[in-house]
Amino acid sequence: MRKYLVWMVLAMLTVAVAACHEEKVYKIGVSQCSQDDWRMKMNDEINREVMFHENVVVEIRSADDSNQKQIDDIRYFADNSFDIIIAAPLVADAITPVIKEVYESGIPVIVFDRNINGDYFTAFQGADNKAIGKAAAHYARHLVNDKAKIIEIRGLKGSTPATSRHDGFVEGLEESGSAGIVAEAYGDWNYDDASRVADSLFRLHPDVDLVYAHNDRMAIGVSEVAARHGIRPRIIGIDAAPEIGIRAVVDSVIDATFLYPTEGHRLIRTALAILDGKPYDRVTSLPVASPVDATNADIVLLQNESLKEETGKIKLLKSQVDDYWSKHSAQTSLFYAAGVILLLLFGWIFLLLRSFWLNRAHQRQLVEQNRLLEDQRDMQKSLNEQLRVATQSKLVFFTNVSHDLRTPLTLIAEPVEQMVNAPNLTPQQHSLMQIANKNVKILHRLINQILDFRKYENGKLDVNLAEVDFSKMMTEWSESFRSMARKHDIRFIVDMPEEEMVLAIDAEKIERVFFNLVSNAFKHTPDNGTIRVSSSIRDGELTFSVADNGHGISKEDLDRIFERFYQVDKIHPKGSGIGLSLAKAFIELHGGTISAESELGKGSVFTVRIPVRHVEASAVTPCPLINENDVSAELGAVDSVEIVHDSEKPLLLIIDDNRDILRLVGELMKDDYNIITASDGKEGVRLATKYVPDIIICDVMMPVLDGLECCRIIKEEISTSHIPVLMLTACSMDEQRVEGYDSGADAYVAKPFSSAVLKARCKSLIANRKRIKEIWHSGQEAPVAPKPSLPAPGVTGASNDIDNEFYNRFIEFFTTEMGNPDLSVDTIASEMGLGRSQFYRKIKALTNYSPVELFRSLRLKQARALLTGTDKSISEIAYEVGFSTPAYFTKCYRDAFGETPSELRDKLSR
Ligand code: ADP
Repeated sequence: MRKYLVWMVLAMLTVAVAACHEEKVYKIGVSQCSQDDWRMKMNDEINREVMFHENVVVEIRSADDSNQKQIDDIRYFADNSFDIIIAAPLVADAITPVIKEVYESGIPVIVFDRNINGDYFTAFQGADNKAIGKAAAHYARHLVNDKAKIIEIRGLKGSTPATSRHDGFVEGLEESGSAGIVAEAYGDWNYDDASRVADSLFRLHPDVDLVYAHNDRMAIGVSEVAARHGIRPRIIGIDAAPEIGIRAVVDSVIDATFLYPTEGHRLIRTALAILDGKPYDRVTSLPVASPVDATNADIVLLQNESLKEETGKIKLLKSQVDDYWSKHSAQTSLFYAAGVILLLLFGWIFLLLRSFWLNRAHQRQLVEQNRLLEDQRDMQKSLNEQLRVATQSKLVFFTNVSHDLRTPLTLIAEPVEQMVNAPNLTPQQHSLMQIANKNVKILHRLINQILDFRKYENGKLDVNLAEVDFSKMMTEWSESFRSMARKHDIRFIVDMPEEEMVLAIDAEKIERVFFNLVSNAFKHTPDNGTIRVSSSIRDGELTFSVADNGHGISKEDLDRIFERFYQVDKIHPKGSGIGLSLAKAFIELHGGTISAESELGKGSVFTVRIPVRHVEASAVTPCPLINENDVSAELGAVDSVEIVHDSEKPLLLIIDDNRDILRLVGELMKDDYNIITASDGKEGVRLATKYVPDIIICDVMMPVLDGLECCRIIKEEISTSHIPVLMLTACSMDEQRVEGYDSGADAYVAKPFSSAVLKARCKSLIANRKRIKEIWHSGQEAPVAPKPSLPAPGVTGASNDIDNEFYNRFIEFFTTEMGNPDLSVDTIASEMGLGRSQFYRKIKALTNYSPVELFRSLRLKQARALLTGTDKSISEIAYEVGFSTPAYFTKCYRDAFGETPSELRDKLSR
């Protein structure tokens, strides 16, 4: 949204800027040396010309005959960024430096009317004063005779026009051969000075015939002074400014005046040509016009009047045009502004609508999401409720079942306990009874835990407080774990203060909490680890903690371990998940707390805090309820099977992570098999490859490598692919069975199993294997492997394919190499990618022959084929099939076929 707005504003600004674009305006500064009629006329012309140029502004400043003021004026123009300066210098010597300075700083300068010393200007415009002087002389000659007395009133001393006008006049007089000037004086261009000097000159020359004044103002002054003196000399002036000079001629104040051309408009045009980089004349000399005297003064004045009038009209028109133009500009600006506002308005409306639509869509989405969330919440709620009801009924069911189980279990437990210690048991019976005894105890404890937990939930669990010495009790409880610690090389440290720690607790419950915490620590701490139990009483609170440096618990699991039935490892649980929740219940009944800190890989610390209370009774030390047997029932495995190896029996590999199962299966099978065991899949694969057993019994759920994967690897490995695998699992669901077969398993037995079934399945698998061997054996008549299509009951296709491929490869190699006397079992085994003993067991398993027997049999068969099908000599054939001597060949042949090779040849030749 904001992005759109920025773009729109930018676009509008561009439009506005384009609309307001204006041509560059030139600033022209005009510095007049003084303010007289001639200059006024010129200023009028300048202003008139400027009217025709939209992009020009002009500022005219008069120095009022002051050099200093003129210098200041010129500096003012330069400092205020005027584009060009036009100056009529008052006195050349005084003004030249400032003009030079400005000119050299890069500002163009036009000098007019009067010159400066040097060439420091961009352009010069002036009338030819000398020519004017000369014309005045010729006119004077026309007015008076050649003997006439002439007085000259000059302009300002040092001013260039004054000098030129004088020089021209003198030259003109000389040309016409007239008499010279009788007197001359400087009237400084102004009326007063001229009147003053004229007065004194008239006193000296009352008979003067003609006065030549360098401008009309001075001429008028002279005329008035002459009148006062009662004389009437002819008077000539210069400038012919309409209201002064020409008016004076019309009024017969003076006789004639010479037009000193102003041409202000020309100055502006030259300035613009310079500024626009167009061609211009650097020096412009204005032409001299004829005199204005009584004959034409009226007309000139009239012309001037009409010019003035026209100028007035032009001014008016100009002001009207300006007016219109400013109105037009205002309207244009208004138009653009309106356009911009309109655009902004449209943009704003568009954005508003867009955000409205987006909002609506968003709202619809939110409503939809809300609805979905509500649906989900409702579903969650109902699922939770269902779960709660299910859990509740499960618990009720468990409790009921537990109740029902307790009595039969007690009835089992007692006889089993008796039987374990019976003196007349065989070792195998003793071992099986041990397993039964241990598991009965576990079941017993589990049932008690469930019942206690249920009681706690129903608020029916009581605490029987009694004063005890906690440190004594804890020492005794800890003793039960000592032998387990020794067995696993675990440093079991009990940290206890020396003094007594007497307080009232329900000793039985706290003992169970202690047992749970310490046995958990043992379950999750590997051999050579450390478990530390410590306790103290401080600030009216008993604290005891169990710390281990075992596997630790992840952050997510840590938050949940006190929930009932929560187990971190759901696949390979080491308990029922009820221990900690019950411990928490027991501690809460004591008004205490239990907490855990743990870090994966570093270990865990469980801390129990119970407020110290006392009851009115002396401290007792109840006997511990849990003894070493309970500890080993909970944590330890019963001793492993004692295996007596008998070379006649087939070799059975049992893979299971539960030591009791390993032991049970071992005990059950040890009469019929030689047994090796592995406690996880990885170890199982290693032993299978190393010993190439005749049959494998494998659990499905195992740590490190599960049973399915383990089976798959065994079935893909050449050395082990032929071994029948029986999967033993607690999962009886069909799809898991299919998964088991997919991985190549040959049979499947669900837990709990009967020993008879297990034995029967193993037996049948081994028998199947034997049958297959026989098929291979018979197929060996022609030294190729049996076709894969041959029925192989109980054997999966995968293992057949691998075994066929193996056998064909072996036959192909052996047939081409059999003539080689150096061919040994080792060479062939390594060619087939197996070790010597693996190769031996594989060949034996597939063909029932040892490799040496198989080689000999294959050689003899090939020899027989050569004897019957070729003319090769017997010794040739003997060497060709790989016998070291013909004599040995003959012996072996007779042993195998009941006749010697030569007897066969004789039979054939007959
Ligand atoms: P169980 O009775 O199955 O042992 P508990 O309630 O006692 O169950 O424990 C809950 C879970 O907490 C267990 O599954 C176990 O993984 C984890 N746990 C308990 N104590 C420890 C420990 N000291 N180290 C690592 N994990 C532990």
